[in-house]
Amino acid sequence: MGVKYRCPNPKCREKLMIPDKMQGKEVRCARCKELFVAPIRFNLAETLRRPTSELIK
Ligand SMILES: [Zn+2]
Repeated sequence: MGVKYRCPNPKCREKLMIPDKMQGKEVRCARCKELFVAPIRFNLAETLRRPTSELIK
C-alpha cells in the first residue's frame, strides 16, 4: 500500500508512490533529488484528529 503523490518541484512534477510508512517523513524524489516531506493521507489524518475533538465537548 502507498499513496500517489506528485513531486512539489515545478520543474519535475514526477509521480511518486509514497509507502504508508514514509508518510509525514522526509523523502527524496528519485528524479530531481528534491527533498520534501511526504503528505499524510487525508483519511489517516482524520483518524488521528477525531479523538482530540471528542475530548473538547
Ligand atoms: Zn522531482
